[in-house]
Amino acid sequence: MKRRRLAMCAAFVLLSACASSPRTSSPLPSLSPAPASSSTTSSPQASTPDTGSGTSVATSEIANAARFTLADVPSNGPCVLAPPSAAGQITFVIASRLYGVAADGTLQCLADLQGLSPTWLRWSPNGDELLVGPDTMLRADGSFASTGYFANNINLRWSSPTGKALIAPKAATGQLIWRDAHDSTNRIDVSFADNITSAAYHPAGKHIAVAGIGRDGQGPGVFVASNRGANAQRIGTLEAGTTATEVAFDMTGDSLVFVHQHADGSSHLHRYTFANSTLLTLAELPDTTPTQLTVSPVDEGDVAWTQSYSTVNSSARLLLGDSTTTAVVANSPEGDHISDPIGWLPGHRLLVNSRSPAVAADGAFELWEWSPTGMSKVIDGVTAAAARSVHGQYNELTAILGSGFG
Ligand SMILES: [Zn+2]
Repeated sequence: MKRRRLAMCAAFVLLSACASSPRTSSPLPSLSPAPASSSTTSSPQASTPDTGSGTSVATSEIANAARFTLADVPSNGPCVLAPPSAAGQITFVIASRLYGVAADGTLQCLADLQGLSPTWLRWSPNGDELLVGPDTMLRADGSFASTGYFANNINLRWSSPTGKALIAPKAATGQLIWRDAHDSTNRIDVSFADNITSAAYHPAGKHIAVAGIGRDGQGPGVFVASNRGANAQRIGTLEAGTTATEVAFDMTGDSLVFVHQHADGSSHLHRYTFANSTLLTLAELPDTTPTQLTVSPVDEGDVAWTQSYSTVNSSARLLLGDSTTTAVVANSPEGDHISDPIGWLPGHRLLVNSRSPAVAADGAFELWEWSPTGMSKVIDGVTAAAARSVHGQYNELTAILGSGFG
C-alpha cells in the first residue's frame, strides 16, 4: 500500500522558498475579473490601496437587490433545527433567532437563541451542531450547553471529522486546550509548542497543526502532532524575524495553508503539501498580514482571508482551487466598508459580511454571497452568520510521527 509519510526530511527552510515567485497556474474554475481599466468612482474597491494582488468582479455581475428583507423573516412562530443538507445552507442571526436558507431558497427559523446575541457562529464539520459564540453550543437536539471557553476566543475550532471535541489556544498563555464538546469538564492541555496563536484539526481527526514557538529551540514555525499533542514535528523553519500566525488544513487534509508574517509588515500566504513536502506561495502581501483564514470544507483548495489596511477598511480576498495567480476581491459594492470572509458553501460560494466602519464590530451588517459568476446580497441587518456546509471527502494523513521532538 502506498502510504504518505511525514518524514523529518519534510522540514524546509522558508528563506529560499519565500524568495521565489508564486507558481502560476490556471484558476479553477476560470474567473471573470473586471477590466483593469475601470475608472468609475463607484468602484467597489475605491478606497482599498491597490497592491496589485486583487481583482474585483465586474459590476454587471453584482446583484444589489437583497434576496430577502426583514419582512421575509418570520419573527415569531416555531423554529426547527432541520438536519444539514449536502447542498449547504446560508445561516444567520437576526434578533436572537437563527435562520437558514434552504436549497430551494425558502427561509426558515432554525432556532430561537433565547436572548443570545452572538457575533460569531461556527457549525460542526458534519453540520449538526453550532457554536453560538465561542462559549455556547447549540446541540442537535436544540438544547444549549457551555463549551468552557471564553466568549471572545474566536480561535476556537471543532475537532474532526464529526466535532466530538473543541480546541483553542488560550489567549493569555498560548496553551492549546482540548475539551470534550459534550463535557466541558473533560479538558486536556495538549500544547506541543509555546505561544500558540492558531490551531487546526486535520479532517481525519488524528492530527492537529498549530502556529507557535517550537520547543526544539528553533523559534517560530508550523507544527503537527497527534490529537493529544504527542510526537510534535516541525514542518517549517522560518527565517529570523518572521512568524506564522494562522493555520488551516485543506478539505482533503493533503495540505496545510498558513500565514507567514514578516517583521517589516509584509506577509505571505503559503500552502504546504505533505505528500511531496512542497511549499507554495499563494499570495505575497507587501504591507499587511491576512487574518480570518477560511478554507473551504467542500471544494479542494479554495481559501479566503481578510486583507486589512486600517480599522475602517478591510477586504475579503479569495483564491479558488490551485490558483496562485491572482487573489480575487469578494467585497460588496459599498464604497468604504469592512468586509471579511464568513464561510464557504459548496460550489465555490463564499459568504462575506459588509459593514460600515461607523458601525461597531458587533453591529448589524449586510450578508453577501460571492460565487464565480458574481456577487449577490442575501439580506441586510444580520448580527452573525455562518455557512452550514458538511465537510467533504478527506484523506488520512498517514504520517509516521515517531521522530518528532515533543
Ligand atoms: Zn513566506
